[in-house]
Amino acid sequence: MKTGKNAEPTIIVIFGGTGDLAKRKLIPALFNLFLAGWLPENFAIIGLGRTPLHDDDFRERLHEALGEFSRSGKPDADQWAKFSPSVFYFQSDINNPESFKKLGELMDQHESEWKAKANRLFYLSVAPQFIKTATLNISEAKLASHPKKDRIIIEKPFGHNKQTAIELNQFLTETFHEEQIYRIDHYLGKETVQNILAFRFANALFEPIWNRNYIDSVQITVAEQVGVEERGGYYETSGALRDMIQNHLLQIMCMVAMEPPVSFEAEEIRNRKVDVLRAIRRLRPEEVHQSAVRGQYASGWLQGKHVPGYREEEGVDPHSNTETFAAVKFYLDNWRWQDVPFYLRTGKRMQEKMSSITIQFKPVPHSTFTGTQADNLMPNRLTINIQPQMDIRLRFISKKTGLEMELNPAEMVFNYDTCSTQTPEAYETLLLDAMQGDATLFMRSDQVEEAWDVITSILEAWESRNSLDFPNYPAGSWGPENAEALIARQGHVWALNTHLHDH
Ligand code: NAD
Repeated sequence: MKTGKNAEPTIIVIFGGTGDLAKRKLIPALFNLFLAGWLPENFAIIGLGRTPLHDDDFRERLHEALGEFSRSGKPDADQWAKFSPSVFYFQSDINNPESFKKLGELMDQHESEWKAKANRLFYLSVAPQFIKTATLNISEAKLASHPKKDRIIIEKPFGHNKQTAIELNQFLTETFHEEQIYRIDHYLGKETVQNILAFRFANALFEPIWNRNYIDSVQITVAEQVGVEERGGYYETSGALRDMIQNHLLQIMCMVAMEPPVSFEAEEIRNRKVDVLRAIRRLRPEEVHQSAVRGQYASGWLQGKHVPGYREEEGVDPHSNTETFAAVKFYLDNWRWQDVPFYLRTGKRMQEKMSSITIQFKPVPHSTFTGTQADNLMPNRLTINIQPQMDIRLRFISKKTGLEMELNPAEMVFNYDTCSTQTPEAYETLLLDAMQGDATLFMRSDQVEEAWDVITSILEAWESRNSLDFPNYPAGSWGPENAEALIARQGHVWALNTHLHDH
């Protein structure tokens, strides 16, 4: 996490420079970092792709993409004129080792112009099957041989299950040092997610009650309104558990449940997070059906539009067993969290787009208030809204104004007082951290492997038995009914949204 500006010359190579992620996220992030003065004086961005393109054609494409996707809108002509000469295109096939040598020459040229060895970042924004070939070719062409300066950034998904993640980690660490490998989970770059650490560990108020004595349950929801869009083929090999729970939701859970770190050092923070993953009680195969619920969307109505069911989407098997919704109840076996359920839920085509954490506190031990006075008595609840709503809300009970003693829930709200165009995007934070060699917000190999381990029995149970009730929730709903039952057994209900009067 940033502490000062970055002065060292830097070369950023984007494999998949013509791809969707580069256009929507990476280039806008780099341009916004440039606007805010975070890029060093000497930098080069080299986009790689197979299509033959001149530098100017590539720049023109990026210029258009910025107009569409950058939080700062269409680039200002002066700023673009300063930025664009540092952007280059390099035609290359990942499978062709020769082209890596040429890439090396191009990078050397920049460095000799700057008379300095640059930090080199290789962003692998390509499908997972290319990671091994790309890293092997980078290594054989000796493009990233400096362990302190050269870094590889790897997108999700990292592996397909625990075994493949271990294999990929072994493969990568044969070639690079662990400190050079940056496994991205873009949720960790979000302002509101980073703020969980500030909220918990920069305030004396919450930490003393942040445990099983005061907390009744925790919910983490990441709901999307979108379906699988054009990525049906990919999603068929993934599903909600792999695509969201294994990474984003478990990482958020780590931020909520981790012990206070001694320092803000990357290794310290990552150690505390991996402790959480280790403490999550693994579900035995016979427990999966009691603690995990899967769903798949049928057609339905969303924002006044009729949308197709998952099985009707392009690239999807009409009899698909892939889940587009997953809800899981986890327990942690440690002193702080024993017996506190953590409910994790994610789904596509849900009624609302919403990522949020709900910390439900226990009721008061004895009610001073009786009869109708106590009608509205409800336990305290803290809601951390991650996106699109960005705020923290604390529900407490207060007296209704009037002559009688009646109670009413009230709310204290902390609103991020920035408008959304001023909030840095997750990819800005993460790219800058990677440039500065700060791995705090990236996943270490053991974190990824533990996270896979946590979900392995669920993955295996779901893969070995087709769901008989798919599709089981209409688009535009909050998922299958079983997801309600999952948490109702402990007397809980999903916190539908953040407004005061929902229970
Ligand atoms: P994409 O299909 O849009 O782009 C892939 C890129 O790879 C293209 O530029 C293509 O030219 C290039 N490519 C393919 N084969 C190549 C080869 N043999 N040699 C050189 N280049 C080759 O994919 P994307 O959506 O940009 O995703 C990239 C990565 O990021 C994937 O791992 C994906 O899972 C991950 N990801 C994407 C998003 C997103 O929003 N798009 C979000 C999270 C993670």
